[in-house]
Amino acid sequence: MAVSTVPSRPRQPKGQGQWAMGHREPLNANEQQKKDDIGLNVRARIENIYAHRGFDSIDPADKRGRFRWWGLYTQRRPGIDGGRTAVLEPEELEDKYFMLRVRVDSGQLDLAQLRTIADVSSEFARDTADLTDRQNVQLHWVRIEDVPEIWRRLEAVGLSTTEACGDVPRVILGSPVAGIAADEVVDATPAIREISEKYIGDPAFANLPRKFKTTISWLLDTPYEANDVAFLGVEHPEYGPGFDVWVGGGLSTNPMLAKRLGVWVPLDGIAAVWWGVTSIFRDYGYRRLRTRARLKFLVADWGVEKFREVLETEYLKRPLADGPAPERTTPIDHIGVHRQRDGRYYVGVSPVVGRVSGALLGRIADVVEAHGSGRVRTTPYQKLLVLDVDESEVDGLVADLAGLGLSAEPSYWKRSALACTGIEYCKLAIVETKALTADLVTELERRVPELDTPITVHVNGCPNACARTQVADIGLKGQLVLDADGRQVPGFQVHLGGGLGLDAGFGRKLRGLKVTAADLPDYVERLARRYLADRKPDERFAQ
Ligand code: SF4
Repeated sequence: MAVSTVPSRPRQPKGQGQWAMGHREPLNANEQQKKDDIGLNVRARIENIYAHRGFDSIDPADKRGRFRWWGLYTQRRPGIDGGRTAVLEPEELEDKYFMLRVRVDSGQLDLAQLRTIADVSSEFARDTADLTDRQNVQLHWVRIEDVPEIWRRLEAVGLSTTEACGDVPRVILGSPVAGIAADEVVDATPAIREISEKYIGDPAFANLPRKFKTTISWLLDTPYEANDVAFLGVEHPEYGPGFDVWVGGGLSTNPMLAKRLGVWVPLDGIAAVWWGVTSIFRDYGYRRLRTRARLKFLVADWGVEKFREVLETEYLKRPLADGPAPERTTPIDHIGVHRQRDGRYYVGVSPVVGRVSGALLGRIADVVEAHGSGRVRTTPYQKLLVLDVDESEVDGLVADLAGLGLSAEPSYWKRSALACTGIEYCKLAIVETKALTADLVTELERRVPELDTPITVHVNGCPNACARTQVADIGLKGQLVLDADGRQVPGFQVHLGGGLGLDAGFGRKLRGLKVTAADLPDYVERLARRYLADRKPDERFAQ
């Protein structure tokens, strides 16, 4: 055999499509599509063309790509089982209706806004509405013909769907009790507003490598470890109250928890630091492979020291102050009745896995108003809070909400369950999630009513982890599994013992740990009973 004596040339590392390194040519179809025309521009085509000519007139590149910049996804055609998700062409999978995501930065809604969402749902979305685990509200069955009128109504009350989906800065999570909590030192709402007003819909940030998630809260009441950038309240011994900055969190496949940059930022400095971090993502983020395009991969490769240095020297042009780490606690969900710092109360209630309806939202608005409140908040746990309730109105409000099926004293099962959209509407789903989780909650309430501490159960319809599979006590990743007779049936890969806050870490994924959807109640019951029987005093499930 002839052996070549020519020394092989060292392989050049492949460009990752980073704009800052001069790679401006698109390396995949998504990047090409964004270069051809940014998603924000599709609004004019929806208003001027598609809404008049109907679904079949929509350019596929708009329908499956740019529409997301305005919160629109085609929804899954009913009746297609999960086994066919990966094999069907997009046009076979999709229905002629849309999911519309209403963006609710920091979950803040007044009654006019709540009623508008309710009316839009009833009139244009077959009465559907889901509170998401990012404080948004999602509607389904929306026709393209109705979208301009829906925007008109939403925008008339200060709501929007701008950049609710797509490769953009998504909704900004914020504390559901910002500005009212007794233990909040700094209300981050002004920073959230500043970012939203300056940068959401700004073409400069309308073509990021992928989605970009933000949270800003004084309290540990949002899943900050799972966001691309997070600002979390902290007291600096010298400078006083401000925010600790974390970058590079994200779940899905290849999950990573955000890492501390080690800097302290005052409230009025948050928007500039957010701008810098988002700009780094836009300029240095990887654009070759969608599967490596989230900020977490850049942070993992650079490390936080380099990330901070680039942020300070190339973008902010000034050093940031070193800061202390915030104290970790278990995440707060705000369910129940709590005193506000102004002496009034807020009440947190728990719709099952965030599923409500237009009619229910309308009735909630009536009840809230009847008890003298004018504000509600959605939470990143698919829950709802009513703010500013006088002491004399609390009991009546709690009773009226309970009458709507919204308990302020839900079981720990109901309180701690999350479910993503799943096969009912999502084109990527392999299994059903919402109804299954609602049934699971009912069954567990019956079988294990003595549960006296949260066990978080997060149900996901596929590996994308929209309902945060890896950071639940019991995280369930939808897939087809084999039943006792060897048949492929809907089921879940189980992740055990994940958590946020004090228990921050990913659940253990044991290869053989799979359960069919039908066996799920038995399985979770067994786990709960074993935990309740064997736990040491104060031992949490994740430990
Ligand atoms: Fe859809 Fe999968 Fe996300 Fe669930 S986890 S909403 S099935 S993409």
